[in-house]
This record gives sequence, C-alpha cells and structure tokens, in this order.
Amino acid sequence: MILDGKIVKEKVLNELKEKISSLNVKPSLTVIQVGNNSASEIYIKQKEKMANMVGINFNHLLFEETIKEEEIINIINDLNNDENVDGILVQLPLPKHISARNIQNAIKYTKDVDGLTDINIGKLAHNNESLTACTPTGIIKLLEYYNIEVTGKNVVVVGRSDLVGKPLSLLLTSRDATVTLCHSKTNNLEFYTKNADILVVAIGKPNFIKKENIKEGAVIIDVGINRLENGQICGDVDFMECKDKASYMTPVPGGVGQMTVAMLGTNIYKAHLLNKSK
Ligand code: NDP
Repeated sequence: MILDGKIVKEKVLNELKEKISSLNVKPSLTVIQVGNNSASEIYIKQKEKMANMVGINFNHLLFEETIKEEEIINIINDLNNDENVDGILVQLPLPKHISARNIQNAIKYTKDVDGLTDINIGKLAHNNESLTACTPTGIIKLLEYYNIEVTGKNVVVVGRSDLVGKPLSLLLTSRDATVTLCHSKTNNLEFYTKNADILVVAIGKPNFIKKENIKEGAVIIDVGINRLENGQICGDVDFMECKDKASYMTPVPGGVGQMTVAMLGTNIYKAHLLNKSK
C-alpha cells in the first residue's frame, strides 16, 4: 500500500488554514537565502505557496553570495527582536565561508521553525516540547495517519544527518520504537535493513536499497530525493522492486517531501503561539 504524502499534507494544511483563519494576527515566516542556488529557489517557492495557501505572511530576504557571516547574524538578531516575525528559516546550502551551524544557532529557539538549533535538538533529546525538524516530524505524522504502530517495532534509520536521521531517531525512541541508526561506516548494512519492521532511508543514493535488502511486509519510508541523468526524480529505495514486498511504502515524489512542507506550516503556527505567549 502506498503511503500518500499528498493526502496527508492536504489534511494537515486544511486544518492549519482553519486554525489560522480564527487568529487576529496572522503568523509570519521570514526566509533568508544567500546566493542563487536553483534548487533553493524551487524549495523557497514551495514554501511560499504553502504559506499563501494557509494564510501565513511570507517574507523572502535574498543576499549576495559574498555577504559575511556576522552580517547575516546581525540580520537574524533583528528578526529575533521583531515581534512581527514568528518563524525564521535559513535556506541551505550556504556558501562555504558561512557556517550553517553558527547561523542556525543565532536564531531564537522559539522562532527556529526548522528545529535545528542546539536548544531545540537538546529539548528533543530530553523529550521536552520543542520545534522539531520538519522532515522527521512529517514522517511521524504520516505513520500516525496510516495507523502504523511504532511502539516495540524494530526501526532502522539509514542516514544520520542533523536534518533527518538524528532527529528522527530521537522522535522514534520517544515513541518506544527500538531504533538502530545506520550510516556510511555501518558494517554489513544489509543485516540491519533486512531485519527492519520499519525501514527509513535518507542517504541521497538513487535506488540504493533493493528488494533483497528488505524484510517481507516491512514498512518502507524513502526520504531520498535524487535527480537522475534523464531528469527523473527517484528515491533511495528501488520503488518498482520493493513496492510489492513491502506492506506500506512511500513513493518519490509524492511521499515524505510533501510532508516536509506541511510540517513547516505547522511549526510556523506553533512558533506564532510560542512567541505570542512570551
Ligand atoms: P546528508 O548528506 O546530510 O546525509 C547522508 C547520510 O547518509 C549520512 O549520515 C551518511 O553517512 C549516510 N550515507 C551515505 N551513503 C551511505 C551508504 N552507502 N550507506 C549507509 N549510509 C550512507 O543527507 P540528508 O540527510 O540531508 O539527505 C538525505 C537524502 O534525503 C537526500 O537525497 C536529500 O535530498 C533527501 N532529503 C529529502 C527531504 C524530503 O523532504 N523528502 C528533506 C531532506 C533531505 P555518514 O554520516 O557516515 O557520512
């Protein structure tokens, strides 16, 4: 069975639109972009579209590639102090001379709608209420929508990035899954993937996981977004090979990616409530 991100995204965004329509002051998002990366342009357009759909005020600040790290931090400080700004998001990647970690940590944690500041990651690790990274939160939402139980399940996450694998392993652990976090140095990766009740793959390698690497009836969550030479988009799991062996599987596109933007909307709303209560 297909785990349809589009359906769940629509449900999440319709509920959000309803909640926002009853607010006197609309939530707002400011996106900071440095340089002209074509992929970033596409991702920012998707965010703007989502914001317009649900009634979030959207601001886009574009800076030259040559801007200094301190200058961006100064701009973030101004946004942190601006009570009309609820969410601040720095579009990655940043140019090499700028540290993404320093920039992200300059964002006030109540406005960190990407959930990437040390404070929000720490809160997540301690199971405290926090703004959590959009892709992992979207995966949890997708599993919940389809009533896929994670408690006691053997969940294998392949990929340990700060954006996906690490926060997802924390979210799943707090939901009582038994989580194994694999990465490029994992010996005998197949041993883990073949034993997974739920397998999440976020590595950025087209069609890397094949039918023989998964368990019969496993739930497969494919986070990868890879562009092939022929222009087609595919995931990290070979969809055609694995879809009949899996019990549930996300398609690419139309799966996890849909959830990421929906969860950004939810995080902006949450940030709005947090900032207004301070
Ligand atoms: P990163 O490059 O930051 O991390 C990749 C991770 O995969 C690393 O932990 C790396 O291990 C691991 N890895 C790489 N090769 C292998 C391998 N052969 N075997 C096991 N582990 C491996 O990527 P991201 O997490 O940012 O993104 C991963 C994919 O997900 C990309 O395709 C990206 O486009 C997509 N993505 C999709 C989103 C969505 O909304 N659907 C959102 C974010 C990302 P190590 O740590 O040892 O280097």
